[in-house]
Amino acid sequence: MGHGWEGVVLKLLRGKDFEFTVTGAEDVTDHFRRVHFTDGGMLAQTGVHPTMWVRIWFSNAGKPHQRAYTVVDADPAAGSFSLEFALHDGCASEWARKAQPGDTVEATLQGSGFTAPAPEPSHLFVVGDPASLPAINTLLDAMPRVPATIWFETTHDSDADLPLRVDPARHEVRRIPRRDGGADLVNAVTSQLPGLLDDRAGAYVWIACDTTTTRTLASYVRKELELPKDRVDALGYWRPVRSPDRSGGQDA
Ligand SMILES: Cc1cc2nc3c(=O)[nH]c(=O)nc-3n(C[C@H](O)[C@H](O)[C@H](O)COP(=O)(O)OP(=O)(O)OC[C@H]3O[C@@H](n4cnc5c(N)ncnc54)[C@H](O)[C@@H]3O)c2cc1C
Repeated sequence: MGHGWEGVVLKLLRGKDFEFTVTGAEDVTDHFRRVHFTDGGMLAQTGVHPTMWVRIWFSNAGKPHQRAYTVVDADPAAGSFSLEFALHDGCASEWARKAQPGDTVEATLQGSGFTAPAPEPSHLFVVGDPASLPAINTLLDAMPRVPATIWFETTHDSDADLPLRVDPARHEVRRIPRRDGGADLVNAVTSQLPGLLDDRAGAYVWIACDTTTTRTLASYVRKELELPKDRVDALGYWRPVRSPDRSGGQDA
């Protein structure tokens, strides 16, 4: 399919294009679905990094729209990986609900990267939700010895069953039901984080929730708590309100 102007812009920025083929899919909960793919040669070319994401092209009313999804369980030797979809309204969710073996999607890899914090954090503070759960898991995997506190925003009862790959010996999960557009999550983090920052220089904060909440919390951590820029990583993962002609989700 032609990608319209978004595709043109990404091409100019030297995005790499691949076609992924579905090999299987399973419902993890009633609002979260995992889809398995062969990678069309991507992983051998690009390698894998924590929180790695791809721009996938989905069709909506005949028009192409790109959406960002995180690569999990990547196996470069086998040329396979999975994507995990938090399900709601939207063309990506619609596609994932119906995905079955043999289905294909086009993807562009451009913009994804990860700079490992150095020195290794003494404590990792994570703020996320079901959309960033796949990335959170790759982050925790990448820092197996680092203790972590994770504020995890939930919307559905079944979000309690989502597979955060935590080790209770080192990781503490604080589940916060989503209310008032993320206000409860903001309150929880701003009231609890300062008391947990024993070692400011060693802390590393990673934030990925809706764009408004992410912006608020990133600003709080950088300006009010005065954590250095290279110890804070924040990216809005989804827009709480979207007009019908918007596409994307990657550029918060
Ligand atoms: C770097 C990056 C990595 C990402 N990785 C993943 C991933 O691995 N898994 C994943 O599920 N998402 C991930 N996302 C988020 C995903 O790209 C967005 O949620 C995207 O908007 C979904 O597209 P859609 O077509 O389903 O819905 P859209 O057409 O974008 O939106 C339709 C409606 O659903 C609402 N909506 C969109 N996303 C959400 C959400 N997450 N929760 C609640 N309501 C929502 C919108 O406000 C809108 O009202 C990632 C985003 C980024 C930037």
